[in-house]
Amino acid sequence: MSTKKFLLEEKDIPTAWYNIVADMKNKPRPMLNPQTKQPLKEEDLYPLFSKGVSHQEMNTTDAWIEIPEEVRELYKVWRPTPLVRAYGLEKMLDTPAHIYFKNESVSPIGSHKLNSALAQAYYCKQEGTTNITTETGAGQWGAALSYAAKAFGLELAVYMVKVSYHQKPYRRSIMQTFGAQVIASPSMSTKAGRKILTDHPNYQGSLGTAISEAVELAMQTPNCKYTLGSVLNHVMLHQTVIGLEAEKQMEMAGEYPDVVIGCFGGGSNFSGITFPFLRHKLTEGKEIRIVAAEPASCPKLTRGQFQYDFGDEAGYTPLIPMFTLGHNFAPANIHAGGLRYHGAGSIVSQLMKDGLMNAADIKQLDTFQAATMFAQAEGIIPAPESSHAIAVAINEALQAKEEGKQRTILFNLSGHGLIDMAAYDQYLAGDLGNYEVTDEDVAKNLAEIEKII
Ligand SMILES: *Cc1c(COP(=O)(O)O)cnc(C)c1O
Repeated sequence: MSTKKFLLEEKDIPTAWYNIVADMKNKPRPMLNPQTKQPLKEEDLYPLFSKGVSHQEMNTTDAWIEIPEEVRELYKVWRPTPLVRAYGLEKMLDTPAHIYFKNESVSPIGSHKLNSALAQAYYCKQEGTTNITTETGAGQWGAALSYAAKAFGLELAVYMVKVSYHQKPYRRSIMQTFGAQVIASPSMSTKAGRKILTDHPNYQGSLGTAISEAVELAMQTPNCKYTLGSVLNHVMLHQTVIGLEAEKQMEMAGEYPDVVIGCFGGGSNFSGITFPFLRHKLTEGKEIRIVAAEPASCPKLTRGQFQYDFGDEAGYTPLIPMFTLGHNFAPANIHAGGLRYHGAGSIVSQLMKDGLMNAADIKQLDTFQAATMFAQAEGIIPAPESSHAIAVAINEALQAKEEGKQRTILFNLSGHGLIDMAAYDQYLAGDLGNYEVTDEDVAKNLAEIEKII
């Protein structure tokens, strides 16, 4: 009988995260202070972030960073995750390709985000922090952090964009079940929120506003830190447990991927699955293709520009060297909420600039078609975000079929879609459309922001 799932044991949970920056010939440029335009130092991050992650953020020399025992202990709740051979999908596509996926949807909150949430909560706890804050759009990061905060005995306040707070009540319930305080943003609990609400009482919120509220609360509350679920280097680092496990599991399967694919929002699950494989390319010159799957409506890697830009809509964060559509870019309201981000983290942006990876942009209807095929073939309803990676994997498999050649494909299933069924309803009812961005839109947007390269 052929093997469907390649399973590791708890003792095989990685003992160190992989810091790809140590192996990069061209290191990512530093983040800059937006006022002075000077490179940020590790200490500059301390008021907002734990020292543990601030140190990781700036670490350019250590390729391996030990995972604290307490974090590995909690990873056991669902890790190692299975590597699955998608026989059903291969059959449906009638392809000679071998398709594998790493199933991160088996985590208690249904996505990869817990890999970093637990690490971030751990360092806060270690350093005597009692309270943490964050913002959340669709609610995946907030859900992950809620469980992580509870696991380490921290109080968590999540600012959830008001429109999502009302439209996605179940993610809010998940956060509340884990004991987090969820506040619809804009709120009256911060100066930033009060100002907006006084000027525009009916404002339905945005991630930018939610970030300013979460940051303000963290800065003004003793023993309180802020956390972020993607984009920053330390988040990429924590997610490498995905690829490190997959590396061993591909060995168990007796194969090596020709191509590794991850969907792309700010880059955390993509980095998680791909960096350990990219390592072989950087250190041993191994042939392997790496593809980021992004929405056609938010195509920062395929259509954006490499330059310094703010990490948030409102322009509060340090300047980050990134492929960006401009922090003022307003992505269409696609259902893959986790991919509606204007830029890419600095490590991925440097790798992209150096031609070490590629990107593909996928239209919304194609992602739902891929998702439906995958669900019917493999029995798992994928998150709309993950469906972008599935669409690219399917394209690769169909290409292999056309060429009549074997090809080994690995993609990351970053999460399941069981809390996104409203989106599937709309797709099934024929109510979904495609949104595309023109080069003129992008150019116009970028022309409005200060050019620092
Ligand atoms: C948040 C999220 C993403 C996008 O974020 P990345 O940091 O780019 O990984 C992708 N998939 C799922 C399931 C998510 O929850």
